[in-house]
Amino acid sequence: MKLIVLGSGTAIPLNERGSPSLLLLIEGAPVLFDIGPGTLRQLTRVGISHEKIERIFLTHFHPDHTADLIHLLFVTKNPAVLRRRNPFVITGPRGLRTFIKALQDAYNNWLTLPPEIMRIEELDTEEKTKTQYGRFTVTTAPMNHTPNSLAYRVEGETGKAVVYSGDTGFCDEITDLARGADLLVLESSFPDEDACEGHLTPSMAGRIATLANVKRLLLIHFYPECLRADIASQCRRTYGGELILGEDLLHLRV
Ligand SMILES: [Zn+2]
Ligand SMILES: [Zn+2]
Repeated sequence: MKLIVLGSGTAIPLNERGSPSLLLLIEGAPVLFDIGPGTLRQLTRVGISHEKIERIFLTHFHPDHTADLIHLLFVTKNPAVLRRRNPFVITGPRGLRTFIKALQDAYNNWLTLPPEIMRIEELDTEEKTKTQYGRFTVTTAPMNHTPNSLAYRVEGETGKAVVYSGDTGFCDEITDLARGADLLVLESSFPDEDACEGHLTPSMAGRIATLANVKRLLLIHFYPECLRADIASQCRRTYGGELILGEDLLHLRV
């Protein structure tokens, strides 16, 4: 598997950091995790057309993680794009169907696609789920952020595991889900001295990585307050393993 960070930022616009989105290439097939504003443009920067995306997984419905769904559905409605388009599936927490219907209503059906092109899949947000998607398996667990927030664990045929928290506060569920992962991608919104309910600080992220005994930790979702802190030193208070501070367009092999 290969992971490309499309957006390492948040909802705050920054020149060098887009809103949250990760691209995972599984046996060459591009899979998106979150689709914050600007994601489709970031995809062009790594040479992958939005038309090639056949699976999108959403962690929760906050606009910084979902706003480019509007762009994706609208561009897919373009007749030339629609003729070429392979079907795609959007997977996300319970409430996804209602969320997408509300967007389509707000845009007066400019986002409505033929059902043979777009499918919606909702996952439980109370319990862990495990689903096999062709050549990879996805396990989810509810996170401590909104009532419908999920983290994802993706395992390929080689047994390598990548875990992505989406947004979350400290919770046992992320530690359990991340157990022994080859790469754990955690949010790190605010510095230790400015902790915020429902989000992680660098040292909380480090504690999760230590408890879960992961091989590598990648931090993303930095608010400007966090970027002004010494993120690595704060994370080192609780974690001694391999640490990567996320940047847009960072490529990692797993
Ligand atoms: Zn967020
Ligand atoms: Zn959020």
